[in-house]
Amino acid sequence: SIKDNALVSYAFYDESMRLVMIRENEIENKMEAALRNEEFELYLQPKYLFLDEKIIGAEALVRWNDPILGIISPNDFIPLFEKNGFVKKIDAYMFEKVCKLLHKWKIEMDQLTDMIISVNFSRVHLNNLFLPEELFEIASRYKIDPQKIEIELTEGTIFDNDIQMIEIMKHLKNIGFHISIDDFGRAYSSLNTLRNLPADILKLDKAFFSESADDQRGKKIITSMLNMARDLNLVTVAEGVETKEQVEFLKERGCDIAQGFYYAKPMKVVEFEAFVNKKLKSA
Ligand code: C2E
Ligand code: MG
Ligand code: MG
Ligand code: MG
Repeated sequence: SIKDNALVSYAFYDESMRLVMIRENEIENKMEAALRNEEFELYLQPKYLFLDEKIIGAEALVRWNDPILGIISPNDFIPLFEKNGFVKKIDAYMFEKVCKLLHKWKIEMDQLTDMIISVNFSRVHLNNLFLPEELFEIASRYKIDPQKIEIELTEGTIFDNDIQMIEIMKHLKNIGFHISIDDFGRAYSSLNTLRNLPADILKLDKAFFSESADDQRGKKIITSMLNMARDLNLVTVAEGVETKEQVEFLKERGCDIAQGFYYAKPMKVVEFEAFVNKKLKSA
């Protein structure tokens, strides 16, 4: 009967919720220690200029390297860390790692000094008026020009009428950091968002490119987003590029930068260094 089914699915739901909570508890119990033990690792995914297919930098992506569970994807812990606030520590930690790395490249790896690295910052930072100074202080400590760093903010978390958030973004930009809107087009926030936001870069969400190659409506939407971005003087990044067809289409429509499995997956820092060196040698 319907009633029995409802009861069964209720019990089922309850059990799976319990498992989720145990797992969340487990993660919360060990996240602080994991940070101290340096289990959070910096991965880099190369970004390419469509124009000449040269690597111009990378996005910094966190991985949790748990001694028992192995590599855990950020999708499995960032949402929880956003809820409990721990993401603030992770993002600051990743930012500092990136500064350290840029510093190391400046001293030891001349060929990598032109790279711009982007770092993801969760929305929970956007109510911290001291964020710009805090980031500037860390960058200065490693003698890094803020121009070498891009701050990625997710579109779904940005509201065009949030005055304080816009102030923080303006301040970050005045310091010299680049600012990008990540996952643009994924959530509900409107084109109107772009009117007031002091961003330099638009990262088109990968959902746009996952459609079949002959999706005419999808192609029109991408084309008009690229045209609009150009009119607004925004640099465009296509993330999640997986096929040659996508590359050709995006390049033809004037997209500036590509990031995706077609070119390279996120990799460990040593792998990234070797990857770039090899590319430079073969060029
Ligand atoms: P994101 O910032 O939009 O990062 C791009 C995601 O797309 C990455 O997933 C990347 O591995 C994946 N990706 C890149 N190219 C392709 C492709 O061709 N195909 C497909 N299917 N996927 C591709 P990842 O590394 O699992 O990160 C997921 C999300 O977790 C990120 O999305 C970002 O929102 C968040 N995240 C990652 N690292 C951090 C961090 O340090 N701080 C914060 N606050 N969030 C982070
Ligand atoms: Mg990102
Ligand atoms: Mg994202
Ligand atoms: Mg994204």
